[in-house]
Amino acid sequence: MMPVIFVGHGSPMNAIEENEYTQGWRDIAASIPKPDVILSVSAHWETRGTKVCVLENPETIHDFYGFPKELFDMEYPAKGSPLFAAKTINLLGDGAADKTWGLDHGTWSVLSAMYPAADIPVFQLSIDGQASPVELFEIGKKLKPLREEGVLIFGSGNVVHNLGMVDFYRKGGYDWAESFDAEIKDAILKRGFENVLQYRNLGSARSAVPTAEHFNPLLYVLGAADSADKITVYNNSCTLGSLSMTSYVFS
Ligand code: ZN
Repeated sequence: MMPVIFVGHGSPMNAIEENEYTQGWRDIAASIPKPDVILSVSAHWETRGTKVCVLENPETIHDFYGFPKELFDMEYPAKGSPLFAAKTINLLGDGAADKTWGLDHGTWSVLSAMYPAADIPVFQLSIDGQASPVELFEIGKKLKPLREEGVLIFGSGNVVHNLGMVDFYRKGGYDWAESFDAEIKDAILKRGFENVLQYRNLGSARSAVPTAEHFNPLLYVLGAADSADKITVYNNSCTLGSLSMTSYVFS
């Protein structure tokens, strides 16, 4: 069975920088078997219902502004996988084929460090913006059989993501960010996934997850995890005050 991973992606600048986080992403890639295909659930593609990108050649989407030209010039020319996209739609029962998206920076800013050759087909599955945490977890469960077909299920977001409170001069996280990240980590490592699904009940949830899109990829990943998986934590830290880069591998 292929592993399932959740990666904290943070700033798009990670795509062109060398730092402890990009090193952590490379370490993850080195620690797992090379996938045949990657199914990516990125915080940056939210839709009504679930969509699956079926394009043969997904374009690199530069879905940000105010960043250096070098970042806009970046391309991640991985192929798509119409075959596995169709299989995914079948497994879900109610996903819709999509030809309007491609690979957004939640996907390529990380994969360009993990798999710089872009030689593994990648297709994105959108986040259903109307679904509850439990429903997203259930969608993740339906994806699980893909793990037996060489597919790496890859969720890209951030456990703590509050852009309005980012402090560019701060190295670690604010106390509330560190504590929310630690509570989620504790629940995951103890396999208390039901506590993660109820993250809104945690004290600092309103500051840590002001909007759910960066948290939600984690819920798909937990759904696709297996009780026999070993859980490994990477990039175990908060940065810029209000972002957590903490990443999880279930293998
Ligand atoms: Zn993001």
